[in-house]
Amino acid sequence: MTALTLTNVNKSFGNVHVLKDINIEVEEGEFVVFVGPSGCGKSTLLRTIAGLEDVTSGEVCIAGDVVNQTPPSKRGIAMVFQSYALYPHLNVRNNMALALKQAKESKETIEERVAEASRMLSLGDYLNRFPSELSGGQRQRVAIGRAIVRHPKLFLFDEPLSNLDAALRMNTRLEIANLHDQLGATMVYVTHDQTEAMTLADKIVVLRDGRVEQIGSPMELYNNPTNQFVAGFLGSPA
Ligand code: ADP
Ligand code: MG
Repeated sequence: MTALTLTNVNKSFGNVHVLKDINIEVEEGEFVVFVGPSGCGKSTLLRTIAGLEDVTSGEVCIAGDVVNQTPPSKRGIAMVFQSYALYPHLNVRNNMALALKQAKESKETIEERVAEASRMLSLGDYLNRFPSELSGGQRQRVAIGRAIVRHPKLFLFDEPLSNLDAALRMNTRLEIANLHDQLGATMVYVTHDQTEAMTLADKIVVLRDGRVEQIGSPMELYNNPTNQFVAGFLGSPA
């Protein structure tokens, strides 16, 4: 089954046309990276998938259901932001548990899910710490843990590594790749970084000025860029 289908999606803010006739299909279990320069509409696109923004026209379909009218909490998605967005007054355990508590999951389920996520992300020793007592890399792992515990149909990542220094960026990138292998989950990942796109993606969607410029596997795009923009962006030989 197709995990995500965007059909002729347009988004305007007032008279600023940000997303233009976007058509994208993501298969179940696929790791898809949306890549493009700053300001091209990546975050807006992710936010329309999440339901944090309404589309102006077109259709967003998740796991076979049209979700245009579905609120974010009912879309079966979990989003990880660049800024972590952890609750400063909650320890790691409770940051991860919060969404499950709000969804009225049982105590046993919550404990199991938190244990599972902290095992996957090596957070077992940090469960009682508060966000201010963690490094940037640990905070981002907690943010990812908060997504994992919800067992979403679809993970959405918005530049999750951009606040980390170079070494941590590589580690966390490998961790996200591992996670994808372990969970077999569908992941949509936004970045402006070519290396992240080339190393993580099964499929890359190159965006430019609110339009899809090209879609393909990393090798297809690298070897057969349809134009100079894609070639330049992915560092293909001239
Ligand atoms: P990216 O994530 O690729 O850097 P964004 O999706 O954040 O790009 O932004 C794309 C364009 O949409 C930018 O020109 C930005 O100014 C505009 N934009 C984003 N959100 C809003 C908003 N809430 N109101 C008006 N313009 C917005
Ligand atoms: Mg952005």
